[in-house]
Amino acid sequence: MAGVIRRLDETVVNRIAAGEVIQRPANAVKEMIENCLDAKSTSIQVTVKDGGLKLLQIQDNGTGIRKEDMDIVCERFTTSKLQTFEDLSAIATYGFRGEALASISHVAHVTITTKTADAKCAYRASYSDGKLKGPPKPCAGNQGTQILVEDLFYNVSTRRKALKSPSDEYSRIVEVVSRYAIHNSGKSFSVKKQGETVADVRTLPNASAVDNIRGVFGNAVSRELIEVGCEDQKLAYKMKGYISNANYSVKKCILILFINHRLVESSALKKAIETVYAAYLPKNTHPFLYLSLEIAPQNVDVNVHPTKHEVHFLHEDSVIESVQKHIESKLLGSNSSRTYFTQTLLPGLSVSGGTEVKSSTTAADSTERVYAHQMVRTDCRAQKLDAFLQPKEKPPPDPEPAGPSGREAATKPTGPDSVEMDDTDDADLLEALAQQEAEEESSVSAHDVQRKRPRKEQQLDEEEEEAEVEEEEELTAAATPKRRVIKLTSIKELRTEITENTHKGLQEMLQKHSFVGCVNPQWTLIQHHTKLYLLNTTKLSQELFYQILIYDFGNFGVLRLSTPAPLYDLAMLALDSEESGWTEEDGPKEGLAQYIVDFLTKKAEMLGDYFSLEIDQEGNLTGLPLLLDKYTPIMEGLPMFILRLATEVNWDSERECFRDFSKECSMFYSIRKQYVLEAEPGEEQDGEANSWRWKVEHVIFKAFRTLFSPPKNFSEDGTVLQIANLPDLYKVFERC
Ligand code: ADP
Ligand code: MG
Repeated sequence: MAGVIRRLDETVVNRIAAGEVIQRPANAVKEMIENCLDAKSTSIQVTVKDGGLKLLQIQDNGTGIRKEDMDIVCERFTTSKLQTFEDLSAIATYGFRGEALASISHVAHVTITTKTADAKCAYRASYSDGKLKGPPKPCAGNQGTQILVEDLFYNVSTRRKALKSPSDEYSRIVEVVSRYAIHNSGKSFSVKKQGETVADVRTLPNASAVDNIRGVFGNAVSRELIEVGCEDQKLAYKMKGYISNANYSVKKCILILFINHRLVESSALKKAIETVYAAYLPKNTHPFLYLSLEIAPQNVDVNVHPTKHEVHFLHEDSVIESVQKHIESKLLGSNSSRTYFTQTLLPGLSVSGGTEVKSSTTAADSTERVYAHQMVRTDCRAQKLDAFLQPKEKPPPDPEPAGPSGREAATKPTGPDSVEMDDTDDADLLEALAQQEAEEESSVSAHDVQRKRPRKEQQLDEEEEEAEVEEEEELTAAATPKRRVIKLTSIKELRTEITENTHKGLQEMLQKHSFVGCVNPQWTLIQHHTKLYLLNTTKLSQELFYQILIYDFGNFGVLRLSTPAPLYDLAMLALDSEESGWTEEDGPKEGLAQYIVDFLTKKAEMLGDYFSLEIDQEGNLTGLPLLLDKYTPIMEGLPMFILRLATEVNWDSERECFRDFSKECSMFYSIRKQYVLEAEPGEEQDGEANSWRWKVEHVIFKAFRTLFSPPKNFSEDGTVLQIANLPDLYKVFERC
C-alpha cells in the first residue's frame, strides 16, 4: 500500500519554520530586544520564568505600535522597517523581514500591550499562529510596548524536551541581555526572574560601557581594560571597544562582538585576536574583549538567518588584520605603563628612567615611540646583583692613600734594562699585594699609560713609536721609562692573529656593557642593550691575559715575590697533585723536579727579559709579570704553572714558545673556580679570596672595556651566552 502524499497543514509548516528561527528562549529575547531598540527605547526590562519556557516578558518605553498595525505585526513578512529590496543594502535597524514576532507566535502564546505617544490609551492583543485572537482591547499603560511570551514551544514537544534545563536557558538570556546592555550604554536594561525583586543584571541610563562591564563581569576585568578604537576609510570600517590587558586572563575567551550594533560571532576574528594575546597570556588562558565594529552596510552580509550568529563581510581578512594590528599595538602600549609602575617598586632605580617610560606611553601616537622593553638602563649608579644578593657584604675596598714610595716596587714598570731597579721587599707577599691594590689611581703608572694607548700605536714603526713615547713622557711627567719596541716577527704575527680574529660585536658589547654581578668566580652577568648575558669569566680573563702578554711583550712590570719561591719545591708540589697526572713510569719526582729547575733556570734570562718572570741563580722564582694593575694571580695555581712551563711549552720555535708560554701564564692568571673556592673558606676576611668579586668587576671587566679583542669563537662556544632579552622577559612577567 502506497502512502498517500498530503499537503502539510499550513500551521505545521509555520511551526517548523518558527522552530528554526527561534531555537531557544534566548533567541526570542535577542529578537525582541532588537525590536525595542529599533523602537528607540531607552529602558528595557526582561522578566523570565522557568528559563523563559513558561514566561518571557519584555517591557520597553519605545515608540509603541499603532493600534491599526496590531492585527498584522505577528504575520510573517510584515515589517515597518523595509519597503523595497534596495533598502536591504542600507538597513540601519536590526529587524528587516518581519519574521521574529511571527515565528514566536507560532510556538508560543503572545500578548502585546502597547501605546504610542499619540494614542489616548494602551491596547492589548493576543496572538496565536501569527494571527490576532481577538480585536485589541483598550487598557491602561505607559508609552512603549510590552511583549509577553508564554508557554514557549507548548506545541513543539521535541524542542521543549531538548531544552530541559531552565537555569541553563536563563543564563543564556542573562548573557544576551547583559551584552546588549554593555553595547547600549546610556540605556537601562534589567533582567530578572519573575517574582524576584532584585534583577540579576541591571544597568543604569547614565552608566558607561566600562561601568556596565564592571556590573556584568566584575571589577577584576573592568580595571584591566584598555580602550581601543581605530578606523580605516579604505576598508570602510570603524572599530571601538575595550580589551583586557595582559594582567587579566580567563579560561575561555570572552569576545563580545557587535557588528553594526547586532550581537554576532566571528570565529575568524576571534582566532586572529587570540593569536595576538597568545604572546602575552599564560598558556590556555584567554582575554576579554568588547568590540563594536561598524562596517559599511553594503559590505555586510545581512541576509543571515536569525539563529546564524556567525557573520561574514566584504574584505573580511583585511579588516581582521587591521583590527588585529591595532589590538597588538594597544597591548604593547599598555605594558610600558605597567612596567613603569612595577619598576618604581624596585630599590635604587633612578626616577628619570621611569619618567622616560611614562612619557613614551603618553606619546602613544608618535612614530618614534620607544617601548619600555626596548629601553636600556644606562645609569652607572644603577644597582648590581650584589645589592640584592649580598646585603651584608662589605663595599669593595676603596683605594687607600698611597703607601710609602719605597714599597711601590712591585708596580714599577720594568723594562728588560731596568730589572735591577726593583727594590727587594721583605714584607710578606700578601702585604705586598695589598700594597699594590692600595695604590692610588691618581698616580698613573707607566703600565697604565702603556695599556691605555691604542693598540694601533703599539704596532707602529720604530721612529713613530719613539715619538709617541716621548709625547707620553711629557704628559705624564716624571718616571716613565721608554716603552721598548718589539720588532720580533713572531710577536707581530701573534698580534695580527688576535686582531684578525676579533669579534666586533662582542668587542662592542664588552666595551659598553653594564656590569650586573658575579654568579660565581667562573660566571658573570652583564647587560648590553636589552639583553642579559652570562659570560665565562675564566675563559674571557684567560684570553685577556694572553692578549696582554702578547701586546705588552717585553714591557711588563714585576710582581715581586716577598719570599723567593724555590722552583724545586713548586715543581714537587705540582707533581704531588693529582692534576699533574704523574705516574711511576715518569720516573722519580725528585729527578723531574730537578730537571724542571735546571731547565727553567737556563731560560731565566729570556723569561725575565720578555715576560718579567724572574728566576734567580739559585733556582728561586722571585718575580711574576704584572699584567693588570691591582691584579695578582691566585698563588695556588703557581706550582702547576711552573710544571706546565716545562712540559707544555714548545721551546724550540720562537713563535710557538711565546704563544705557549703566554697561554700557560694566562691560564695561571685567569679567574678560576677551583682556586677561589678553595681559598674562600679561609679565615682571612679581607684577603685574596674575598676580593675576587671586586677584581672581576673593577679589574677584569674594566679591562674588557678598553683592552680586549674577543675572539670570534667566543660567540659560539658557550663563553658568551645570552640568557634573557628584555622584550621576552616582559612576556614572562606578564604571565606571573
Ligand atoms: P522586524 O523587526 O524584522 O521588522 P519583527 O517580527 O521583529 O520584524 O517585528 C515586526 C514589527 O513589529 C516591527 O517591524 C515593528 O513595527 C513592530 N514591533 C515589534 N516589536 C516592537 C516594539 N517593541 N516596539 C515597537 N514596535 C515593535
Ligand atoms: Mg525584529
